[in-house]
Amino acid sequence: MQVLISGAGIGGLSLAAGLLRAGHSVHIVERSLELRSGGAGIALFSNATACLRWLGVQVDGLGRISQGFAVATAQGKVLGAAGEPVSDEPARCVSREALHDALALAAQGAELYLGQELVALHDGLATLSSGERIQADLVVGADGIHSGLRSLLGAEVPLVDSGYRCWRALVASGVGEQPDSVEYWGRGVRAGIVPLEGDQLYLFLTMNNGLKLGLEEAFSEFVDPVRACVAAALDAEVRPIQSMAKHVWQLPGAVFLGDAAHAFTPNMGQGAGMAIEDAMVLVQCLEQPLDQAIPAYIARRAERVQWVAESSERLGKVAQWQSGLGTALRNSMMAVSPKSAQQKVMMRLWEGSPVAQI
Ligand SMILES: Cc1cc2nc3c(=O)[nH]c(=O)nc-3n(C[C@H](O)[C@H](O)[C@H](O)COP(=O)(O)OP(=O)(O)OC[C@H]3O[C@@H](n4cnc5c(N)ncnc54)[C@H](O)[C@@H]3O)c2cc1C
Repeated sequence: MQVLISGAGIGGLSLAAGLLRAGHSVHIVERSLELRSGGAGIALFSNATACLRWLGVQVDGLGRISQGFAVATAQGKVLGAAGEPVSDEPARCVSREALHDALALAAQGAELYLGQELVALHDGLATLSSGERIQADLVVGADGIHSGLRSLLGAEVPLVDSGYRCWRALVASGVGEQPDSVEYWGRGVRAGIVPLEGDQLYLFLTMNNGLKLGLEEAFSEFVDPVRACVAAALDAEVRPIQSMAKHVWQLPGAVFLGDAAHAFTPNMGQGAGMAIEDAMVLVQCLEQPLDQAIPAYIARRAERVQWVAESSERLGKVAQWQSGLGTALRNSMMAVSPKSAQQKVMMRLWEGSPVAQI
């Protein structure tokens, strides 16, 4: 089958890798002039790493194996942690650049059209911005939250602002040394420090939109690794955190995956995870005739993604609480809640993954 993918991000490249292994011909149209990914680092939980392996991506040696993820107060008191392995495939924390390199390697063999986008699509015949035409049996939108293909096919989906924004940066590990990933929750601000491969840490910071503070001021009461990392990342790029008001799995002429289908807030660390899972399930479903494959794909994905999106949004709201009373209550409730609550979520993420269901 000839498959045309719009977007060479994590979802598009994952799909390309799996389709090539299954014997399909793949064309990828990417708006950027090179294959790259912004955003510093990323956490890939077991559901994501297992699917990447299934898709033919070189997982061994990718990033740094994670021993666990903790949530702590701004002063460093641990409120909860999820660390027990849920499968033989460990979670990994990796620089976006290394992940993209691994994906690009696995997708070698696909025909790449860089610096281009689809400007017309009729009955599988796509016209690119260069004027070149590609006839495809299946067109897949994997072009992110602002999907050009969604717009081309007439679906304008409103984006919902979460009410907070996010900064991301890589800093040298000596700056804020710590053995594993910790997210520090303050009042309307959060800081995450995630050790990656090599000597680097991935730092992410969030702040409610109503707070107009400089980064050093916003995190001045946080423990030292956070303050040191913030001081080393004052030029980090900031972006709003948004999600799609409704999920779009299919439009006449194309099917969608990843953020193009269901962009949601990043609080569960599962946006890429769901894009990678989508890719695996779509490859599996394409073993059937196309008219059965697409409904089967949507049926297998929609409910799980909805659960992750809603859980992620809820978690973000609580994590961004700002009032003194609210955060004190939140912290004391988390400190006494059974450790198994977080472990249960990790287990559900794993058990519902397409690899666990084979
Ligand atoms: C702050 C933050 C932290 C996050 N942390 C995590 C995490 O720890 N773990 C996790 O799993 N997820 C995380 N995510 C989510 C994750 O980054 C996304 O869900 C994931 O990148 C989605 O991949 P994608 O391939 O669907 O889309 P994208 O990564 O957006 O890729 C889309 C691709 O399409 C291209 N493109 C765009 N428009 C066009 C067009 N018109 N034509 C052709 N090409 C086009 C883009 O250049 C890009 O290459 C985080 C997100 C944010 C914002």
